[in-house]
Order: sequence, then structure tokens, then C-alpha cells
Amino acid sequence: MNVKYCLPIIKSQTAQVLKIISENQKSYDYFEIWLDYIQDLSLDLHKFHPSCHSEPCLAGRQGSEESNDNCEIEKKLIFLFRRQNLETPKMDSNKRIEIINLLSGSQNLLDLDIFSQKKELQYIRKNLKKINLILSYHNYQETPGNAKLKRIVSKMIKQKANIYKISTFCVSDADAVRLLDLLTDLKEKDRSCIILGMGQKGTITRIAGAILGNITFAPLFNKDQSASGQLTKDALEKILKNIQICYFIADPVEHSLSPQMHEAGYRTLGIDNQFVYLRHRVKPKGLKQFILDARRDPHFRGASISIPHKVAVMRNLDEIDEKAEEIGAVNTIVKNGQKLKGYNTDWLGIINPLKAVLPNLKNKVAAVIGAGGAARAAVFALVMEGVKVVIFNRNLKKAQKLAKDFNCEFDSLDNIDRIYNFDIVINATKVGLNTQDAPIIPKRLIQSNQVIFDVVYSKTSPETKLIKQARKQGAVTISGISMLLYQGIVQFELFTGKKAPLKEMRQALL
Ligand code: NAP
Repeated sequence: MNVKYCLPIIKSQTAQVLKIISENQKSYDYFEIWLDYIQDLSLDLHKFHPSCHSEPCLAGRQGSEESNDNCEIEKKLIFLFRRQNLETPKMDSNKRIEIINLLSGSQNLLDLDIFSQKKELQYIRKNLKKINLILSYHNYQETPGNAKLKRIVSKMIKQKANIYKISTFCVSDADAVRLLDLLTDLKEKDRSCIILGMGQKGTITRIAGAILGNITFAPLFNKDQSASGQLTKDALEKILKNIQICYFIADPVEHSLSPQMHEAGYRTLGIDNQFVYLRHRVKPKGLKQFILDARRDPHFRGASISIPHKVAVMRNLDEIDEKAEEIGAVNTIVKNGQKLKGYNTDWLGIINPLKAVLPNLKNKVAAVIGAGGAARAAVFALVMEGVKVVIFNRNLKKAQKLAKDFNCEFDSLDNIDRIYNFDIVINATKVGLNTQDAPIIPKRLIQSNQVIFDVVYSKTSPETKLIKQARKQGAVTISGISMLLYQGIVQFELFTGKKAPLKEMRQALL
């Protein structure tokens, strides 16, 4: 793990700043120098290059618009003339402009806030200054909603900078998970970025951010934090040394609620400094490499596997659990020593919520609509419990194959009218994933004595039209969120070896 540490320095005297840089030059990759707090600040910024012996360094060529590749400290310095909490700076605006001129052409970084430092940003653009810019957005009160965050990010990207930084206060755990989503999105698009959640609830963004390559702000002592929630370098190093990383791998990945569910579990058990759960898009041709990396990475603990890798991943594993073998798909991998073992917990995501409403399933009659991976797990689970199953699918050949594997009946989706007298109906197709989709079962076929289970959920609308309609008809309903939860808690236990906190993990999905 190659963590890039930055030491924030807020001191009133230049000599103090210099001393800190000299003493920590080997152990930090960057130094963030808060110029507005330095009372004896002179505009000879070369002073901040205490160990540079290259000639000419920044001194004597300030504003010369040429960088000096030999200066080992120049690239490590991040200057800013903001104040904490975006208080009004003491430095007058002419001096700020002078500093911009001095930094122009150097390798130093300058951090400017997109809203409170518009004037400086305009000056840079208008005068074509060559600044290594960290364009940042700060919000010390809250983390804005996703739509607003998205607007801010696009605005920042339009302005073109070397690094985009978002630092917002996390009021809730969900805020931190949203920031983590944003970080993974931007990293995936190869944007250089730093995404941080301030406050106690933002801690996971600092841990995950360090793993994902954020510049990591970590003071030497808690008293020297430049933003709330910063961990000291010592504390972060201790956490990262033993951190176990679990991934959600799929393509697409954006819809998944698994990160917030697993993170809630870690927090509830107080193991959020030991485990982190990251969303990771893996394309089919990248699967082999992901598995190779997982084998090599001492921090890799396991992964939730979703579409389209559930079958393909099986040939890359050392061992496959008996039930996963029977189902023919793996949705969980766990690393023990050097060995990767595959499991399937999807079938438990079907059977456990069903048993909660129908404790005795034996001899019940169920219709499973669909013949893909989810349907396979559902048929396996139902047959194991002694339920009589009929599979309905659009593609009859696939229905026939699934029925043959589990010794049950099949029929065409055209004959869906048959389902009105089944005890249990499970929608295991993708219909409903798109919120515009009409429900796969017409309302008139749903009876009040039936259990209607829809495996589908979407992030924006956890309850599908089918579930809403079935409830109106008086049927007992089970949503895709329940399946997610019940398959997820078994996964959680496989990853952590601890009993999953069901209530809190469910809460995180609501
Ligand atoms: P899959 O293997 O690709 O199978 C998709 C199934 O949907 C096939 O049977 C396909 O029928 C059917 N289908 C697709 N579009 C259809 C349409 N317009 N009309 C009728 N049938 C249609 O996918 P999967 O892995 O089984 O996943 C299915 C759904 O379950 C997904 O939405 C997934 O997100 C969800 N899921 C949820 C959970 C959870 O935890 N809640 C877990 C796993 C999966 P054909 O064979 O005729 O093409």
C-alpha cells in the first residue's frame, strides 16, 4: 500500500514551519503550509525549501515561469492562504496575488477554494498563470446531497485543475459512504482527487482514501489537526498495517447498497478500523487480474461477487463450497491464508426471509419467474425445503435446463396466468430494475393469500412496482432489499468471523 502522507502545518512563525519541514522531510510526501497564519511571512518562498541545494532553486527565479526539476522539496509543498472554517483571510488580496505570481511556473501546489477564492482563480485564468492547482470545495456544516455534489464536481472539472478536492462535514454515516462512492467514481475515471469526510463520521473516508491513493492529511499530533476527524500519521499507519479489505466487484457497480450495509455492520461492532468495504468495477476481461491481485495483496480479505462474474469467477478459485457448487454460482469469496474459497449466500437471501413469513415451506407450491443466476439460487433453496417449483421464463430453453438441473417443472412466461393459485411467487428476472418497467405479473393475478417476493431493488427506489401492487392486493411481500440483507449478513460473517448486527445492517438499507 503506497500511502501519500501530507503534514498540515499551521504555525505563526516561519522558523517553526521550517523546523517541521526539515524534521519530517523523509517521513512525509507533502507539506501543507497555511500561509495566512504565518505572522512574519516574507515573500521569499524559497525559505520553505530548507534542504534544497540545487541552484538555482525557486529563489532567484521566482516568477520566472520555469520549474526546477532538481529541487526535491518543491513538489512536496502545498501552499494555501485560506483560514480554517473558511474564515476571512488576514492577508490582503494584493499579497495573495503576489504569491500566485511567485508560484507560477514552480512545481509547488496551490490549493484554492472554488467558491470563496473566485478572485484568485479568475486572476490565474485571465493571466494564464502556470499554477499546479488543487481546486477544492469545503463545507464545514454538512455533505450536500448527491445532486448538488455532482453539480459541484462538474463545475470543478470544467475549471481544469491538477487535483480536485472535496472536503465536507459528515453528519451521518451515510454521508461518508456517499463520499466514498464519489471517490471510487472519480478514481475510476482517472481523475486526480482527494475526497474527505470531516468529523468523526468521516473516518472511513480517511482510511479508504489512503488505500485508494488520496493525498492523506495526517498530523503528527491530534492537537495539530487542520480539519476535524484527521487521524495522526501514527494512528493511520497502525490501522492500515492491519486493515482487511473487502470488495464489491461487478459491472455496473453504482446501484449497489452493499457498501453501506457492510460498513454499518463494521461500525456497530466497532471493527471499522479493522475492515473496510470498497466498491470496485471489474469488467469481464479484468476478472483474472483482480483475482491475481487479490492473491498477492496481504490486505485482501474477501469480495462480494455480482453480475457478470458469479459463474466465471469459479474457475479462478482454489476451493468451492458444496452449496455453491450445486447452485453453479459464487457470490462471495473469502481468503484464508493463500487460498481463495467461493461460497453462495444468495440462496440464504431467498430462504431466510421466506421462512420468516412461512415457517413451514414443505409441500408449498412456488412459481419462480426467470432462469438466470438469481432464479437458480431461488430454485435450489426452494427445492431443498421441499417446495414444489415451476419455473417460468421468456427463454424456454433456459427454463428447461434449470428445471432439469433441479428436477422441477417449467413453463413459458406466456402462461403466467397460472400463477394465481401458487402459494409463493418469486420474480427473479431483471424486470423492475428500470423503474419505468411494468410489473412482470398483472395485478389481477395476485391473491391476498400469496407471498410475492421480488428479488429486484434499485438504489433510487428500493420497492418495485410489483411489491407496491402486491401489497395493495393484500399479499405478503418480500422485497429485494430483504434478499440483499439476508445474503449480506452471511457474507459479513464469512468476512469477519463475527455475528452480523442484523438490525443496524437493515437500518442502513432503509
Ligand atoms: P441474469 O442471470 O442475467 O438473468 C436475468 C433473467 O431475467 C433471465 O431469466 C431473463 O430471461 C430475465 N429477463 C430479463 N429481461 C426480461 C424481460 N424484459 N422480460 C422477461 N424476462 C426478462 O440475472 P440475475 O443474476 O439472475 O439477476 C436478476 C435480478 O436479480 C437482477 O435485477 C439482480 O439485480 C437481482 N438480484 C438481486 C439480489 C438481491 O440481493 N436482492 C441478488 C441477486 C440478484 P431470459 O432468460 O428469457 O433472457
